[in-house]
Amino acid sequence: MTQERTYLGVPLHKPKVAFFELSSCEGCQLQIVNNEATLLDFLSLVEIVNFREAMTERSNDYEIAFVEGSVTRADEITRLTEIRRNAAVLVALGSCACFGGVNQLKNRFHDIAWVKKEVYGKHPVETEAEAKPLEAFVRVDLKIFGCPIKKEEVEKIVTNVALGRPVQHPKFPVCMECKANENICLFDLGEPCLGPVTRAGCDSWCPNSRMGCWGCRGPADDANVEQLRNIAKKHGISAEAMLDRLECFGGFASHVDEIRGKAKAKKTASAAKGGVNPPSSPLGKGRRR
Ligand code: SF4
Ligand code: SF4
Ligand code: SF4
Repeated sequence: MTQERTYLGVPLHKPKVAFFELSSCEGCQLQIVNNEATLLDFLSLVEIVNFREAMTERSNDYEIAFVEGSVTRADEITRLTEIRRNAAVLVALGSCACFGGVNQLKNRFHDIAWVKKEVYGKHPVETEAEAKPLEAFVRVDLKIFGCPIKKEEVEKIVTNVALGRPVQHPKFPVCMECKANENICLFDLGEPCLGPVTRAGCDSWCPNSRMGCWGCRGPADDANVEQLRNIAKKHGISAEAMLDRLECFGGFASHVDEIRGKAKAKKTASAAKGGVNPPSSPLGKGRRR
């Protein structure tokens, strides 16, 4: 006979959970499967009814759906809409699902046929539409940030959902965790880093290994991107190098659009006055902006 689980004496409801992937590398789901040390504890909290990476059984009877990946094809919109209809809670799992992730880099190019040829060569796949986050199509109840997600954070969030407790993300930037970890600031070593504007929660994963943050968790509350650009300039790091980082995962898309929009307006005004235009982007062919 299985013993009923309780929390503070209250019987625990074990939610039925399903994992799905759209266009993604499946690295976020892999993080969960890989978490051997605490996997059994985690599994005891929920009833997993659908998880292609880990089991063969399938069921459409679930309460919480974790969806990894961004939407890049028409059939994925249909699938996502169906998942939304079935789930009481829909969780966007990872940067691709939250912001479009690395997939949205293709949106920077207007010549998608050229992109497909460069990326897939003789083995093209259907990828005509722009890569978009889940919330461009359905309501998203919770987001788990990161590329990949941090497994400890997923477990904390799932535990909170199972216990009916609110889920809160850190409002502060990665720099706070980096300072607490007593790292040397990478800007002082001449390296770009998005730590000052990126939402914390990864325990400054990259700077701990002497690598600058690329902003995979998206913007922190009140992120001051303009000030970040000033810091970079002071350390001799080019504006384009910072923009490349800001564009990488899609979380800073609105900031990048604003910066590029202003730069374009300045260029147009300068050309109208007979000034010399700066050289074009090294990304060259097919570039959207
Ligand atoms: S967020 Fe990163 S690790 Fe997760 S599916 Fe997307 S590319 Fe893979
Ligand atoms: S290395 Fe990056 S995250 Fe760490 S303090 Fe410097 S800017 Fe902030
Ligand atoms: S340091 Fe930045 S890029 Fe690295 S995991 Fe954290 S948020 Fe993502």
